[in-house]
Amino acid sequence: MSLAESLHRLQQLDNEIQAAQMELASIAQALADSPAVQHARAECARLEQALRTASSELKLRELDAQALAEKIAHEEHRLYGGLIRSPKEILDVERELSALRRRREALDEELLGLMERVEQLQEELQQCRNALRQAEQRFAEDSAALRAQQTALQGSLQALLERRQALAEHLSPYAVQQYEALRARKANKVAVALVRDGVCTQCGQGLPSQLAQQARIGDEVVFCPNCGRILYAP
Ligand SMILES: [Zn+2]
Repeated sequence: MSLAESLHRLQQLDNEIQAAQMELASIAQALADSPAVQHARAECARLEQALRTASSELKLRELDAQALAEKIAHEEHRLYGGLIRSPKEILDVERELSALRRRREALDEELLGLMERVEQLQEELQQCRNALRQAEQRFAEDSAALRAQQTALQGSLQALLERRQALAEHLSPYAVQQYEALRARKANKVAVALVRDGVCTQCGQGLPSQLAQQARIGDEVVFCPNCGRILYAP
């Protein structure tokens, strides 16, 4: 293999390496996040929070109801236990009792609403957790295929890197350096241009016949006078 042909082969290997690396990156990203799982997880977290809030609200209202019941029992005991005799005081206690009973009615209604809300949230949370489990299971199944693909691709990449290293070791370090610098500089990552019919296929420039001849022999690095790429005439 001539130098120019070797550099061209190096470029082909680098293209394959780059493609494998890009595919591996996109697989890694696909393995890192599943939108369906993320969405279900966020929804369950939201429901858990809402359930915690509603439950502690319910607990507070239950304590209120208990205190109110005690107060009512106390007043009833005073009224019906014969502890008070004055008609004015009896009237006061009766008024107080009916106010307390009205509050109890309102509170009972509130309690009922809160219990229904807690129950509904528990049901929604249960459904959400089922959905999350299903999404995780589906993702794990999909991931199994992706992981197999990832492993195979890592193997191919390793082989490509070894082939590249073996090839580069047999080339002049200076030529490899020139190739790498050009590849880094060119937007389309093409450092070695093919010559066809005496024309650089990268920029379309017709080449002086002596240059085209040198590119054909390929034992030294020659550059396109127009685009500056290394020329290789297969
Ligand atoms: Zn050119």
